[in-house]
Amino acid sequence: MISPNTIQQITSRIDIIDIVGEFVKLKKRGTNYLGNCPFHNEKSPSFTVSPVKEIYKCFGCGKSGNSITFLMEHEKYNYVEALRWLAARYNIEIEETETSPEQKILVQTSDSLYAINHFAQKFFSAQLLESEEGKNIALSYLQERGFRKEIIEKFQIGYNPDSRTALTEALIANQFNPTLLPKTGLVSNRNGDELVDNYRGRIIFPIHGNTGKVIGFGARVIGKSDRGPKYINTPENDIYIKSKILYGSYFARTAIDKKNECLLVEGYTDVVSLHQAGIENVVAS
Ligand code: ZN
Repeated sequence: MISPNTIQQITSRIDIIDIVGEFVKLKKRGTNYLGNCPFHNEKSPSFTVSPVKEIYKCFGCGKSGNSITFLMEHEKYNYVEALRWLAARYNIEIEETETSPEQKILVQTSDSLYAINHFAQKFFSAQLLESEEGKNIALSYLQERGFRKEIIEKFQIGYNPDSRTALTEALIANQFNPTLLPKTGLVSNRNGDELVDNYRGRIIFPIHGNTGKVIGFGARVIGKSDRGPKYINTPENDIYIKSKILYGSYFARTAIDKKNECLLVEGYTDVVSLHQAGIENVVAS
């Protein structure tokens, strides 16, 4: 839990023009600021922000609130996530109130899984975009299928080399806890004592949670292959709960709000293709 003291520090630092201005282009009008509403489609601006009252209100769709509700509404954060975002923005160190040992282990495990996924995503991206093997086998395959580099980078698509332990070795060299690695699905435990890469020679689609952190992966074979299933997905763990996440929701959140409509497609590549074509209110189950 974030301590009341930290919450106090955060709320006293909030500048609503700065926060809303991060996402909406605002122009000064008298004592207020005016912009195009991010919650509905409009041509003439009716979204008003008052720095004095520290609130926003849209006279078109009626949405209103303060900086924290803005982040919750616009970025789809929960209350705690919004506070953490603000703390990071204002360089405020978060003080946590006492938690039970069980809660502590749960938080530590989740943090470690996020850290492993973050490292792995960077590793996979570098392999795809910079290694000879990645460029020749995976990047060329994606490009043949029509994916442009900007969209590959936006969705942080990557490649796991066709080697037994390329990722595993990199993770261990960077001191990640070996006992947690199999939980992420990235690594599997052979015969109880040997860790090996699970997604060898596959294209990797990171799955982002609602705050943009990587919570899991989908790994696709390249072309036709008799090596196992077409896709392997992360098993459920402390941070990845299949029934609670839709692929692409992080990238679709503002477009869904604006269009008040959400398209559901079958798979990773459908979401990415539609984004490339300019249709962003799309997710996959
Ligand atoms: Zn509005």
